[in-house]
Amino acid sequence: MLNIVIFGAPGSGKGTQSEKITEKYGIRHISTGDVLREEIKNGTELGKTAKRYIDEGQLLPDELIIDILASVLDSMKGHNGVIFDGFPRTIPQAEALKKLLQDRGQDITAMLDLDVPEEELITRLLKRGQESGRADDNMETIKKRLDVYKSQTFPLIEYYKKEGKYNHIKGVGALDDIFRDIAAVIETSSGK
Ligand code: ADP
Repeated sequence: MLNIVIFGAPGSGKGTQSEKITEKYGIRHISTGDVLREEIKNGTELGKTAKRYIDEGQLLPDELIIDILASVLDSMKGHNGVIFDGFPRTIPQAEALKKLLQDRGQDITAMLDLDVPEEELITRLLKRGQESGRADDNMETIKKRLDVYKSQTFPLIEYYKKEGKYNHIKGVGALDDIFRDIAAVIETSSGK
């Protein structure tokens, strides 16, 4: 069972690399951002709540997102691993994930920290905003998301170092080169 946490600031390439990982290793992909955007699209109550936080560049409350993550995980049967993209984003979420996996007799295989300088993140997010029209990819919200990342999410680097799961990945350069580094870490961590 391969359980990978893909970590990084907004715009670091988590979604893009997650697709490559699912393709190569045949594992499932949970992107909490995608789950929430789907709820918004479908106009559900959860979507309405999520939209309020996302438009402000804020995180959803931990209890809410942890419940969502747990139910998505439980809806997936018969797989041989999961890539967690955009979760955890806070220490309580990381502790919850550890427990969720433990309760299912599993563990995190590796945490991959996609490291990209801030100027590059801003350039990428503004470009994505123009191309995809994602409502939170505008300068004002990007700045808030980066602040939230620094204050609430960045401390997870220390957390995963202490857990012995941390792996630094240089997140700038050609997509395939980044993916090669990722694959090397996955194979070492899983003993393949
Ligand atoms: P990005 O990494 O580009 O910021 P995501 O698509 O992962 O984008 O997330 C978009 C938004 O969804 C976040 O800014 C936040 O409001 C909400 N969100 C996603 N995952 C979480 C989470 N684990 N905890 C709280 N809020 C989340």
